Amino acid sequence: MQQDQTPQQEWALETLGIRAGHQRTHEQEHGEPIFPTSSFVYGSAAEAAAKFSGEEPGNVYSRFTNPTVRTFEQRLAAMEGGERCVATSSGMSAILATVLALLESGDEIVASRSLFGSTVSLFDKYLGKLGITTRYVELSNLEAWEAAVTPATRLLFAETPSNPLSEVVDIEELARIARRHDAWLAIDNCFLTPALQRPIALGADLVIHSATKYLDGQGRAIGGAVVGRDKELEEVFGVVRTCGPCLSPFNAWIFTKGLETLNLRMRAHCENARILAEWLEGHPAVARVHYSGLATHPQHELASRQQQGYGAVLGFEVKGGREAAWSVIDATRLLSITGNLGDVKTTITHPGTTTHGRLSEDQRDAAGITEGLIRVAVGLEAIEDIRADLARGLDALV
Ligand SMILES: *Cc1c(COP(=O)(O)O)cnc(C)c1O
Repeated sequence: MQQDQTPQQEWALETLGIRAGHQRTHEQEHGEPIFPTSSFVYGSAAEAAAKFSGEEPGNVYSRFTNPTVRTFEQRLAAMEGGERCVATSSGMSAILATVLALLESGDEIVASRSLFGSTVSLFDKYLGKLGITTRYVELSNLEAWEAAVTPATRLLFAETPSNPLSEVVDIEELARIARRHDAWLAIDNCFLTPALQRPIALGADLVIHSATKYLDGQGRAIGGAVVGRDKELEEVFGVVRTCGPCLSPFNAWIFTKGLETLNLRMRAHCENARILAEWLEGHPAVARVHYSGLATHPQHELASRQQQGYGAVLGFEVKGGREAAWSVIDATRLLSITGNLGDVKTTITHPGTTTHGRLSEDQRDAAGITEGLIRVAVGLEAIEDIRADLARGLDALV
């Protein structure tokens, strides 16, 4: 009987996204079921004792394991090429669980400067309290990474390409630095997803996801995941199981179904982003476009080598500073003015006064967040409509 959808070595990514991780139940269902249950029952007191002690494998309580969550975990692990995945309640709790699992007081992290804002707060404010310190370096500058590592460094942490300037780091080289210093390399793969970048194949130890973004793809739920080797993931699992940032079965089901169309969606996102980036680059009101898919991008060659696509988050600078940028944003009628990304709906933000608004002017300058910078996370509406919505404000500037 065909019960098991154990990923086959030879299956392509598209197939894994649709098939991996679903063990059919005795009902022979075709679609992946949802198990909305907090606990699981046993046939006898002896079976309960064996399951509780871990002597016998099996479900006990949904903070530990849940079949719907497991389907999502196995599917994502297969797509990322990792041995194991642990799902979490959010992208932030995926990062928190990873550092709590692997680091202790006195350890150091070296991280890229252009990180998701809450990740920086987590590292500085909350890990700082635990005696774990973080040093920040320019993402693409490998000498800076090497120079920032000390004997206490246990973790290198990067997002590539960066948000919103689309800066790229050479993951293979970063992995070499990590190995040389006996540290782990974790890559937040939120912007590209396994459809466009597989950090583990490039030497990363851990991949972090905010499933909230492209894995869902339709802006419906918050969730996260960590993918890597059994050894480290067993520790991450221990944190989630004990401390409780577990993923709900309902959200796991949404993400599982999201993975089925991930390849298709990412390719369509990339195509829309490419057309928009090229059009913006030629617009007289635009001073600069930041997108690793453009031949003019300083790391275009590296991005082409290590990525299977360039993603759909791009930044562009309008001439005329904040006033001009706000006027372009306010002239839109279709695009959503919101900080979220990874959605079929195109979103637009002014990073300088929103996502990066809490930084000091010096920090913003160092991060390249200028007053005229606009970020667009390109969705899947017709590209003519997206372009026309931006043209309204941009044309008025020239
Ligand atoms: C959104 C995001 C996170 C945090 O994820 P949540 O699901 O919002 O907790 C982490 N990293 C990156 C790159 C993100 O975009």
